[in-house]
Amino acid sequence: MDLADATWTDVRDADPEVGVVPVGSTEQHGPHAPLGTDAMAAEAVAEAGVEAYEREDDDATVALAPTIPVGVAEEHRAFAGTLWVSPDTFRAYVRETAESLASHGVDVVVFVNGHGGNVDALREVTARLTRDGTAAAAAFTWFDVVDVDVPMGHGGGRETALLRHVAPHLVREDRVEQAAAGASDRWGDWVAGVNVAHDTDAFSANGVVGDPRDGDAATGEAMLDDAADALACVLDALADRTSD
Ligand SMILES: [Zn+2]
Repeated sequence: MDLADATWTDVRDADPEVGVVPVGSTEQHGPHAPLGTDAMAAEAVAEAGVEAYEREDDDATVALAPTIPVGVAEEHRAFAGTLWVSPDTFRAYVRETAESLASHGVDVVVFVNGHGGNVDALREVTARLTRDGTAAAAAFTWFDVVDVDVPMGHGGGRETALLRHVAPHLVREDRVEQAAAGASDRWGDWVAGVNVAHDTDAFSANGVVGDPRDGDAATGEAMLDDAADALACVLDALADRTSD
């Protein structure tokens, strides 16, 4: 159940035990892909995963929270339009959002994440929520679980392919060649095993890492299916943990 569309009485009557919170970012994704890429990807995966989970188990109702749109993304600050909050603010915000779900009886909370910069903070927060007994919590980062022959990068083949499936009108295909030409082939500036770059503009002129020409809409659809199945498995495993 989509919390933004439901009424409070709907939620009371359904009494969901599982909560899913999509977490994105609003940050540059090169000249060809929208600033909302990570939020859109997280939301699409969360919706598909919840659907897959509810399909497998008729009794299961999931509270799907609205997508958190701004994350830990200061590394992209050189690029116009990028928004960020500090890790402290982000951790507090996502933790308290999960705590409010738990106060209504939700005892499984999974953050469905679309941005690499959020990973460390989400790992800390989900460990704390679990150890405190607030909820069985986990962070699910979609691009880490899909099995596809397209490297991740940033605004590269994997993310662009997912967009080609879920929001094709937002991919500026006429700028993809230019995006590829200005891209870096790896994340960071590595010297003797150490990444000496903190900000993206130190190693990528246009913000892209990888090749956005890789991965068509069918690849995007396959990744979405993969991620949805994986999310359903994670929800199922956490629900099992809390049932005994
Ligand atoms: Zn991204």
